Amino acid sequence: MPLNNSYKNHYVAIIGGSISGSEASNILAKNGIKIVVFDMNKLPYGKIEDGLPNWHINLRNRQIKEIDKKLDQENVRFIPSTKIGSNIKFLDLINNWGFSAVILANGAWKDRKFPVEGIEKFKDKELIYQNAFINWFNHKHECKFNGKNYFIKNNAVVVGGGLASLDVIKIVMIELVKKQLFLKKGIEIDLFTLEKEGVHKILDRFKFTLEDLDIKKARLVYRRTAKEMPLKAPKDDSEESILKAQEVSRKLLVKYQEKYLFDFIPQSVPLSFTENKGKLTGIIFQKVTALNGKITSIKNSTFELKTEMLISSIGSVPEKMEGLPYKNGTLKMRNNTDYHVDGFENVFAIGNAVTGKGNIQESKRHGKEMTSLILNKNLTKDALEKWVVYHNSEIKSKVKKHLNGMLKEISSKEIQPENIIEGILNKTAEIQKKLGYATYKDWTIKNIPNRLEDELPKNKTNIKCL
Ligand SMILES: Cc1cc2nc3c(=O)[nH]c(=O)nc-3n(C[C@H](O)[C@H](O)[C@H](O)COP(=O)(O)OP(=O)(O)OC[C@H]3O[C@@H](n4cnc5c(N)ncnc54)[C@H](O)[C@@H]3O)c2cc1C
Repeated sequence: MPLNNSYKNHYVAIIGGSISGSEASNILAKNGIKIVVFDMNKLPYGKIEDGLPNWHINLRNRQIKEIDKKLDQENVRFIPSTKIGSNIKFLDLINNWGFSAVILANGAWKDRKFPVEGIEKFKDKELIYQNAFINWFNHKHECKFNGKNYFIKNNAVVVGGGLASLDVIKIVMIELVKKQLFLKKGIEIDLFTLEKEGVHKILDRFKFTLEDLDIKKARLVYRRTAKEMPLKAPKDDSEESILKAQEVSRKLLVKYQEKYLFDFIPQSVPLSFTENKGKLTGIIFQKVTALNGKITSIKNSTFELKTEMLISSIGSVPEKMEGLPYKNGTLKMRNNTDYHVDGFENVFAIGNAVTGKGNIQESKRHGKEMTSLILNKNLTKDALEKWVVYHNSEIKSKVKKHLNGMLKEISSKEIQPENIIEGILNKTAEIQKKLGYATYKDWTIKNIPNRLEDELPKNKTNIKCL
């Protein structure tokens, strides 16, 4: 364990309160540093609430409990429903609020653009992006749900290759079977049973086939082969570990296909689309090979998949905030460090916000390791003193006489000037007041959505809102 050089008079803003943000808050708070956590949503649960499909009941509840424990403690002030970049501009936060450091833990919420020119005109009609799709799936049963509504069609195509794309195609098949079983046979099976047992088993139980229910298999299209899907991370960089992980990925895909009855089309990339009367009718794909990671087109190998529902699950990148540097869609970090944002002395990033991908454990690990480094290397007494001088440089140029007194006060008392801390407290209290926020506990209890598993009477598929 490295020596902890941190200095507790820092005041830190954390953007995003979920897995990585709450991990950072916990470490800093336990070291006596005061933190304000801003989250764009009412609840700070990020992808745990809106990314993980809602059949992961235990995983979700466990993670939420952990986040609550980390955020609901002394030294942490939570500010919900406040998006940095729009409600508060990033540069405003950096320059005018008085935080001595800012940690970005805002995840990756912007779907990568589907790489076919002109296709965006079908967005939210025949073209659906993963983030909005899962948000709909997780929350559509809530009576207060006012997000985008989607209607799952029979000939869906999902493009992607990660674990999230498997969740997406599972949702498609589960929803189709659930609906058709009810409409065609009057049988009600809930989502959780269909997910747990699998579509195949349930159909077998009733001695039906997909054809009996007029369902066509959804298709998952990936640019590489099954074994190259990033479903299992290799233990290390050795060839043996890589091959082992590839075999696990291949087997996982086969298992999913058997259970949820979808087709897999490997080594294909989208090229263009077909349309009729303003509606998307199909995607033209090109067969490719991948050698040493490089994708090469195979000549004369295009084919069309007819579809009126294309779901893009090709990954997410951090949403850009004006004032921050980006390279190839992700935050530009300083050389040799995994957490320091380029061009800033006191701006850091952790979790999915850095890589644009990962899983819960990875985000937690990154949050923990990077925050320990930030604490030890960057939240020092020296850094705070330098920052205070920098922060006051504007005043310095305006009221020179006044500044001398202020600087003396800082170095003798070794604290941030009272007015800076007071400013942060006042501004954040004002937001909380406007929102009707009293305590973390009250707020989260008040805003937790109705859970499908609590509302669904046994063997019913839908909830009717009064
Ligand atoms: C479909 C799907 C399935 C998955 N399944 C699994 C799984 O089975 N197991 C697993 O381990 N992982 C899974 N993951 C991945 C896992 O959920 C994430 O890697 C992890 O939760 C990321 O944590 P994070 O804190 O880095 O980011 P996030 O959870 O994205 O948190 C970012 C937080 O920042 C807030 N925020 C964003 N922008 C702003 C802003 N501008 N201002 C203020 N606040 C902001 C957000 O509201 C959010 O609370 C899945 C992901 C998806 C999409």
